[in-house]
Amino acid sequence: MSETGKIFIVAGPSGAGKSTVLAELFRGRGDLFYSVSATTRDPRPGEADGVNYHFITADRFRQMINEDAFLECAEYVGNFYGTPKKPVDAALAAGKDAILEIEVQGAKQVYAKRPDAIRIFIIPPSWEELERRLVDRGTDTPEKIQKRLLRARVELADAREYDYIVLNDTVDKAAEELRAILRAEHCRVKDRIDRFLER
Ligand code: ADP
Ligand code: 5GP
Repeated sequence: MSETGKIFIVAGPSGAGKSTVLAELFRGRGDLFYSVSATTRDPRPGEADGVNYHFITADRFRQMINEDAFLECAEYVGNFYGTPKKPVDAALAAGKDAILEIEVQGAKQVYAKRPDAIRIFIIPPSWEELERRLVDRGTDTPEKIQKRLLRARVELADAREYDYIVLNDTVDKAAEELRAILRAEHCRVKDRIDRFLER
């Protein structure tokens, strides 16, 4: 672990498996910080306030924008999502890597402010599989699923700008790819050479 943590942006189409793969990555990893976003969307069954998201009203969301409380925020398929800034900075200062599971517009905002952030895009094996995962998840109406799939086409165009693509074929393999990326990013010359020379 480096002295200060790094920001890892994890983006990718809805249904690609970001939450599932990150849950696997986080098992037993006290050195990682999961950034809990604020959102105006309703909780899904099984989602807990303060764990998966901070579920807040549109008024409160606007208030947080005015207070400059977000590192980034964006609208996605009719709802607002944002990354509270303070907890991320606190985690980085404590030497933890901060994992931001966000969509591509927010990712651009973070990268513009923090160009050291590492951008990872998670993709499913195919479009058919993406649709199947969204349908099987059972959390969205067919209309919302179509909107999410349309949005996925736009998001995929951004993937070329990213540093890594993780293929979520099986959850274990995808989590392993993420672990490898995090590990490699901590072996960067710029992070290690000065500390070595000082010894
Ligand atoms: P996202 O967070 O990217 O929107 P989720 O983690 O909610 O995606 O996953 C979407 C659906 O696909 C969920 O029902 C999840 O259980 C399933 N899923 C995730 N990864 C895989 C995988 N590797 N193989 C099969 N199903 C998966
Ligand atoms: P969902 O409604 O499926 O939980 O999330 C929809 C999309 O919003 C996903 O791509 C998810 O990664 C993204 N998202 C979640 N939190 C944030 C956030 O704080 N900021 C941004 N920009 N996107 C987010």
